[in-house]
Amino acid sequence: MSVEYVITPASRATLPVVGTEAVFPVRRAYCIGRNYAAHTREMGGDPTREPPFFFQKSADCLQPVPTGVTVHHPYPTLTHNYHHEIEMVVALKSGGMHIPVEKALDHVFGYAIGLDMTRRDLQDEAKQLRRPWDSGKSSDLSGPCGPIHPVSQVGHLAKGFIRVSVDGIVKQKGDISDMIWSVAEQISILSQAYHLEAGDVIFSGTPDGVGPVTRGQTMLCEIEHLGEMSLKVV
Ligand code: MN
Repeated sequence: MSVEYVITPASRATLPVVGTEAVFPVRRAYCIGRNYAAHTREMGGDPTREPPFFFQKSADCLQPVPTGVTVHHPYPTLTHNYHHEIEMVVALKSGGMHIPVEKALDHVFGYAIGLDMTRRDLQDEAKQLRRPWDSGKSSDLSGPCGPIHPVSQVGHLAKGFIRVSVDGIVKQKGDISDMIWSVAEQISILSQAYHLEAGDVIFSGTPDGVGPVTRGQTMLCEIEHLGEMSLKVV
């Protein structure tokens, strides 16, 4: 029996997939905080002691970015300090609870380039006032994502460069192998707290060098084996 809605439901967030016209339906977007040692230090944390923590962006914050074109990315309201955080995005094809680390990668459909765009001034204020981070982290379109590269094509990515340049100047540069908590560990730890499901994506953390962008600037994001993603802030 088909469901009858009292209003027209919003369309589901999707991401393109390399090699097919079919798209990936997004359920939830999880993000890990402070997962590269140098970035943890630049945010005032201690990379040797802190257990991982996660927050969420609304799935509809994801902005699909096709390859080979520069997409316009609107500068959001309420901020004067809008930061890029380049991250590898992990897309799950299945889920569960209490997933052991050694089984975790079996749930991965593929990988994509992502940006965890952040209204840093609002996030800093929220931290100071001990309020939730949503206003800083979950603004509209704050999660640009390139196409998903299926594991069947690229395998599992444990190393490789990750970088973003702004107007041709490299701002963040790291290696996937520098993650404090691996993709498998992130999936396993998240599954202690939530029932993960097919369609969930995980932003797996950003290297150091986060910083502001302004209108008119172009961000070129690159992760080895995942191509590139280009956005102009407007
Ligand atoms: Mn982040």
